[in-house]
Amino acid sequence: MPFAFKTVPHIVFETGAAARLGEIVSGRMKRPIVVTDRFLLDAGLVAPALKSLEAAGMTPTVYSDCAADPPAPVVRKAVAAAKEAKADGIIGLGGGSSMDTAKVVAILMNSGQTLEDVYGMDKVAGPRPPMVMIPTTAGTGSEVTNISVVTTEDDQKIGILADQLYADIAILDASLTLGLPRETTAATGIDAMVHAIEAFTSKVKKNPVSDALAKEALRLLAGNIVKACTARDDLAAREAMLLGAMLAGQAFSNAPVAAVHAMAYPIGALFHVPHGLSNSLMLAPVLKFNAEAAAPLYAELAGVVAPEAKGSDAARAKAFIEKITATCKATGVKQRLSDVHISHNDLPRMAEDVMKIERLLRNNPRPMTYDDALRLYQEVL
Ligand SMILES: [Zn+2]
Repeated sequence: MPFAFKTVPHIVFETGAAARLGEIVSGRMKRPIVVTDRFLLDAGLVAPALKSLEAAGMTPTVYSDCAADPPAPVVRKAVAAAKEAKADGIIGLGGGSSMDTAKVVAILMNSGQTLEDVYGMDKVAGPRPPMVMIPTTAGTGSEVTNISVVTTEDDQKIGILADQLYADIAILDASLTLGLPRETTAATGIDAMVHAIEAFTSKVKKNPVSDALAKEALRLLAGNIVKACTARDDLAAREAMLLGAMLAGQAFSNAPVAAVHAMAYPIGALFHVPHGLSNSLMLAPVLKFNAEAAAPLYAELAGVVAPEAKGSDAARAKAFIEKITATCKATGVKQRLSDVHISHNDLPRMAEDVMKIERLLRNNPRPMTYDDALRLYQEVL
């Protein structure tokens, strides 16, 4: 089977690397804009990176108003800030929302295109300034993907997919993730596990490279997530999570995600539940929904997370689902939609919105109807 695989050309995986950011990006930019959020800025996580840019002779500016599920107006404001600063390089420093915002800033700041012009696949015209991504969560993998997801004014989550969204450099510094609260560590880590699982079972563009990455990602993530949640300063566990999340990002950027994400989107868009938590809420029901159609693939993944499982594909697929569900539960993550204030009356609208996300549903191992979506939401209410 012919296939293509793309990723970021330059990856620096080094604890402490953010403090030598200036050295790493030197020669690529003079007036970088660092796109981040208020929390990280106030927590002092941005300061060492800024200091190193200055020490390397650069004049950085900061945009720190990034918000979760990047709302379109916030993204437009970030683009305007970069123009105003006459930035010649973009540094996304933060979780998925900051990095997704930074990527859109890079593709729009020097082009005549509007945000609406680039919604969808391959709509980005022309080149962009140099772009560097530095994740502070082990989850999204956005540092190595060609995707940004924006929340529109009418509460839909829209993807922007284009090669220009691959960063020039991804810098992975696990020390930035040490202070993450347990709840965020759990939710973002489970999101990364979903990326690995959905890439491995994707009906579209799944290939030997994405498969290898997905398996190793899942081994690292499932093997370390509980440790990272319970011992917050365990650097080895944090490094394994950050590496796993990146490998999962490389996998799903090429073999796209499916129904867990499609069902998570309305939870984020309508109720402002963080992306990682939205995904972790829907993981178990969708795994069970897919169990029969994806049995041989889930059985293969059982070899990674539950090697003791024996027997038929169906038996090992069941062991895989049980192991993943138990691991998620052990992190202490919320389990029910009602825990995030979603009620019975909300479910039909959510299921309707799922049906609009054909871009993701078509990757799912089993077709999903409106009735299926409604039933799965009811199951975890
Ligand atoms: Zn995700």
